[in-house]
Amino acid sequence: MRALLWDGKPYPQGFYLEDVEKPVPKKDWVLIKTKLCGICGSDMGIITGKMALADFMPKPLIFGHEVVGVISEIGEGVESLNVGDRVVVDGAAGCAELGLEPCDMCKLGRYSLCYNQALLGGGLGYNKVNGGGFAEYFLAHKSRIYKIPNNVSDESAVLTEPLAVGIHSCFVGNPVGKKVAIIGAGAIGLQILQACRVMGALETFVATEFEYQAKLAEQLGADHVYCLEKGETPSTEIIMATGKGVDQTYDGVGSAQTLQDAINITKPRGEIIFVGLMREASIDFLMFSVKELKLYGVNGYPLEQVARTPFSIALELQEKGKVKNQLLLTKTFKLEEWKQAFEAQLDKKKHKSTKIAFRHY
Ligand SMILES: [Zn+2]
Ligand SMILES: [Zn+2]
Repeated sequence: MRALLWDGKPYPQGFYLEDVEKPVPKKDWVLIKTKLCGICGSDMGIITGKMALADFMPKPLIFGHEVVGVISEIGEGVESLNVGDRVVVDGAAGCAELGLEPCDMCKLGRYSLCYNQALLGGGLGYNKVNGGGFAEYFLAHKSRIYKIPNNVSDESAVLTEPLAVGIHSCFVGNPVGKKVAIIGAGAIGLQILQACRVMGALETFVATEFEYQAKLAEQLGADHVYCLEKGETPSTEIIMATGKGVDQTYDGVGSAQTLQDAINITKPRGEIIFVGLMREASIDFLMFSVKELKLYGVNGYPLEQVARTPFSIALELQEKGKVKNQLLLTKTFKLEEWKQAFEAQLDKKKHKSTKIAFRHY
């Protein structure tokens, strides 16, 4: 099968196309033929060295965790899935992928918080057990697979994973009846916006960097949108509009600057939900203490409610037409066009990109 591999060198080095052996599904595993696979901001952060997470990952690596595919082969012990099913995959990997008895987190369905995940290097698209969607086929454990409802297009479903991140962020933050600010209107920021709206936020304030992002935020129903020049902070406008600041802020960018902005625009006793991955940073925490703020981390889409996971909610919202994922998919590329695809994802302003995906058909 055709695969885009990464040997760990910082982009634009490190990537090469190669024909590798198609994996075979073992007991409880399924082989999936990739249809679409989104390129994630985290993938770009890792390959450009901004996120400094590559050290943990095995190499060479096949990226790609925002997948839509069709089941192509089924291992023994898989009963509720069939060849031909169109599916998305919860990319969090843990004990099941390692063939271990479930740890306390996996027992609760909180796979992205698995105690053993470090042994894999990461979830789907970040380890060698699964492979990833930057290849024609990849493997998934049966417990991580969700069938896509018939009326949901591939182009909408490819935004399921970022929507699940948005939904989980809202379970962490609980926006019901609150004035919320969302910093960043890339794929994650916009999915947080969609999730905050369906999950009962009172009023939404979105701070964006680019005009096309501001337009998308408006189309998705944001109440107030502030388009800022690079380096500008949303503090003044949002504090003016709300009096003392918002009840909670979702940082959909995850940088020192945006976390600082979140500290500034959140009112006393408010909450900051940090939906990003950042290592060392220099931040002035004075107002964090003075205002008695709370700061929450977010990692993937662990189960919060008994009956539904963020993935199942994300699919139901698409099925019922309550979100407009298709507006977020900017452009698709063939795997051979990986240079153009990465370029479009990295230079967002030039390409007006929100989500770039590989199309394998
Ligand atoms: Zn992602
Ligand atoms: Zn586990």
